[in-house]
This record gives sequence, C-alpha cells and structure tokens, in this order.
Amino acid sequence: MHTSTHASHYLRGIVYKKTIGNYVVHAGERVITCAISPRLRKELIYPIADPGSLSHIVRSVRDIKTVDPVAVGDEVSFIDTLDGSGLIVEVLPRRNRLARVNPGTKKIEQVVVANLDQVVPIFAAAQPEPKWNLLDRYLASAESLGLASLICITKLDLLDGDMCQFAEVETYRNIGYPVILTSAATGLGMDEFRVALQGRVSVFIGKSGVGKTSLLNAIQPGLGLRVNEVSQATEKGKHTTTNLAMFPLDAGGSVVDTPGMREFGLWDVNKDDLAQLFPEMRPWVGNCRFGLDCTHTHEPGCAIRRAVENGQVSQRRYLSYLRLREG
Ligand code: GDP
Ligand code: ZN
Repeated sequence: MHTSTHASHYLRGIVYKKTIGNYVVHAGERVITCAISPRLRKELIYPIADPGSLSHIVRSVRDIKTVDPVAVGDEVSFIDTLDGSGLIVEVLPRRNRLARVNPGTKKIEQVVVANLDQVVPIFAAAQPEPKWNLLDRYLASAESLGLASLICITKLDLLDGDMCQFAEVETYRNIGYPVILTSAATGLGMDEFRVALQGRVSVFIGKSGVGKTSLLNAIQPGLGLRVNEVSQATEKGKHTTTNLAMFPLDAGGSVVDTPGMREFGLWDVNKDDLAQLFPEMRPWVGNCRFGLDCTHTHEPGCAIRRAVENGQVSQRRYLSYLRLREG
C-alpha cells in the first residue's frame, strides 16, 4: 500500500499491546493508544480471505474481532491526533510472522506476533520433565517460518548435578541450535540469557509450569508479573490473541509471552517438505534412491534412514520426524 502525499504527517511506531479495538504504539519515548482506520481493515483482510468464496469474505469482515490486521510487533504508520491518541493508517511490510488459523475460518490467518527475531522454547529440566518431541515440533515450526530458535532448559537446580540425562542438549547443539541452561532459583545462566535476549524481539513458548514467569522475573524484576497479568486476562476471554502484549527489556529488545499458543504449529507445511525443517537431515534430502519422492519412512535406499543408522542423525529426532509426518 502506498502512502498518500500527506505521508509526512504520519509517524512510525511499533505495536506493543492490543486490546479489542485499541493498539498501544511505542514511538521513541512516546506511548500512544491508537485506533485503526476502517479502510485499513478492509484492505488487509480481503487479500487473505478465500477469493473463491464471497460469503467467506463477508463473514470475515463482519467477524473482525478474530481477524485483526494489526499484530503485536507490527511497525505502523499512524496519524497523531495530539490528544494522546492516534489512528493507524498503514501496517509496514512484515519481516516475518507467527500466525495461527482461526478455528472455524479456514484459510484466514491470524498473525499473532510480527517482526520477531527468535522463538524461545522453554522447558523445565524436571517438574515437569522435558518433552523433546514437543521441542522438535516447536523447532520445526520455527524453521518453517524462517525463524531462529533459542532453546532454554530451566530449573536446572532440580537435577542434582546429574547431567547425563541431558545427552539431548548435545544433540541440539550439534545440530546448531543454541541451548541455554538456566535456573531462576540459583541465577544459573541468567547473564548468558540476558545477552541472548538483548536487542532482539523474542517470543517465549512453553507450557504453564515450566518456569517462564520465574525466568522473566529473573531477567528483569517485575516483568514476569506484568506478563502474567496479561495471560490471566487472556484466559478469561475467548479471543486469545487480542490481549497479547510485548514487553520492553531495560537492556533493549523485548519479550512476548504466548499464552494459548497451542496452535503454534505446522499448519501450512507440506508433509513432503518436513525433512527440510530438520536442519541435520537437510544435507541428505534429495540423495535417496527415490530422490525427492522419498518420504524417508520405509523406502529402500533412503539416505536419511542410512544417516540415522550411521548415527549422523539422532534416532530420537528421526522418530519426531515420523510423528510430525503423521500429523
Ligand atoms: P510458568 O507457569 O511457566 O510461568 O512457571 P512459574 O514461573 O510460575 O513456575 C512454576 C513452578 O516452578 C513454581 O512453583 C516455581 O516456584 C517453580 N520454579 C520456577 N523456576 C524454578 C527454578 O529455576 N528452580 C526450581 N527449583 N523451581 C522453579
Ligand atoms: Zn529418504
């Protein structure tokens, strides 16, 4: 979309928070609560609706609360009305996005966070036990969106110094994923974690109970509490994406917690391309006897299965691959 000749009146900012109908935009030191122009809504919704179905389009526009054209993390142009409020007139092109499909409105994607630098899957070393399969799902999803991942294993103090059960950490590091080991209880790894978050937009992903709030508070006192307030407000409402917020870090950069991101997944990935989302399998893709037609499940002369047998690809990661293929 081109801005008009009045573009010089527009200001630029980043959307940090949404509530229904309102967008909190940070522009430098200023924080402006904005509304959105009806024209912008229509322009942005039509192109993503199913073009073959007129009724679909009509419904999607009426159902505006669940299909919001502005996401947390978006860079926007807005008109400053100089009374502390503003009107968003344009969403600038997104570098990337984390999206989900709205239940009941197939093909309409709801962008949850835009312009992020990294996805941070968080698991506890114990209580609850880490679910490596779920981590593999998160990582493949991030790969499919072209996003970097930073793995965080926390509550390390619960391990009693027994690191042998963490052979998996080496597996991930060998693939090339950074893994940070932390404990909010002892402060272990917190300096390293802060550095890894500094100056970046990071999206935390992890089930409740893994220690996200404690970690956020350890990174920056008060941060976890603020994020938790938003999560609670979110759980009450039906439209889980409308109350999402991004929190600035004192050291620069920001963090988005993602309550209700169960849908974060592989919804737009073709099964035949799945091996590409496992970086350690990529070198073998295309080298199977059946070339790119190989599903790497049972075929003779499969280069990926050979790599598993030779220990070049972890057996467990391969099993995750098979599970993701099954859906
Ligand atoms: P969230 O639901 O992911 O935000 O998890 P919380 O931060 O609320 O933590 C869940 C539980 O794990 C709480 O009882 C915390 O006290 C505990 N917990 C969090 N971090 C640590 C840690 O580093 N070590 C230990 N031992 N317990 C932790
Ligand atoms: Zn194969």
